[in-house]
Amino acid sequence: MRIIKPFDPWQGKWCSCPAKYTLNPYTGCAHRCLYCYTTSFIPRAFEVREKPGILKKVEKDLEEIDSSRYLSLSNSSDPYPPEEEKRGLTRAILNLCREKGLPVLILTKSTLVTRDIDILKTMKAAVSITVTTFNSSIASVLEGGAPSPQKRAQALIELHEAGIPTILRIDPLIAGINDKPEEWKEILSLLSPYVNQVVVSTFKPRPDSWKRITTTFPSLQKTKDWYTKKIGNSIYLEDNRRVKLLEEARATIHSFSLPFSSCREGLANWNDLPCDGSDLLEINR
Ligand code: SF4
Repeated sequence: MRIIKPFDPWQGKWCSCPAKYTLNPYTGCAHRCLYCYTTSFIPRAFEVREKPGILKKVEKDLEEIDSSRYLSLSNSSDPYPPEEEKRGLTRAILNLCREKGLPVLILTKSTLVTRDIDILKTMKAAVSITVTTFNSSIASVLEGGAPSPQKRAQALIELHEAGIPTILRIDPLIAGINDKPEEWKEILSLLSPYVNQVVVSTFKPRPDSWKRITTTFPSLQKTKDWYTKKIGNSIYLEDNRRVKLLEEARATIHSFSLPFSSCREGLANWNDLPCDGSDLLEINR
């Protein structure tokens, strides 16, 4: 069985990602985001484990896959957990992809990605970093295991200055936590010169993530009745609130002259660029 798999978000009917591959170098994620949906399908999702023999498997898969596509690192974990500093598995995988000529789109909340600027500069690559809020006290509980948002912002700046295309994800937008244009403006005021695209997505709770987030932020219980739309295994905000929130986000992002995209919102016609940032890889589709 392959370890590099075609990306398939559970046949999510609102996913508008182009055809791509996905790989999680590690199982589990140390960032422990309260809103994380992987806890609904990955056992011990907040414990990072290595995948035995991963580099040999990646080498074998790279011989067989369609290299006109690109690889997304990662969609169900972070490719740069603290273990990566010693283990270097993601770094080794990047080297293998570079040799194969396979473009790579990195999604992370870790600042460790800047260690690999030397490799990323010499291949088709783009890096997407999530900053949900600049409020450090909220971020320290919302994403308790991740570097501070200010450090993540610094990593985006460093990547941009090294010539690597960057995507800012303000994701998820959570009603009652980070749903005000003033907060997005604070992030964009600092980062707009250093990013090529901004991607947003609304919070889509599942029973376990709802329990975690409302245990830490009990005031969110008052928003419970706003989540009425069930799509697949996720519950969406009711359409009026959700579309209004995304309209405000789009207007704010456009006011900084940046391309806007939304992820799995059924609004692909609003996207200025493909929703995952892959346009920045400059692949001939
Ligand atoms: S970074 Fe992503 S995979 Fe990791 S805990 Fe947060 S939401 Fe889950």
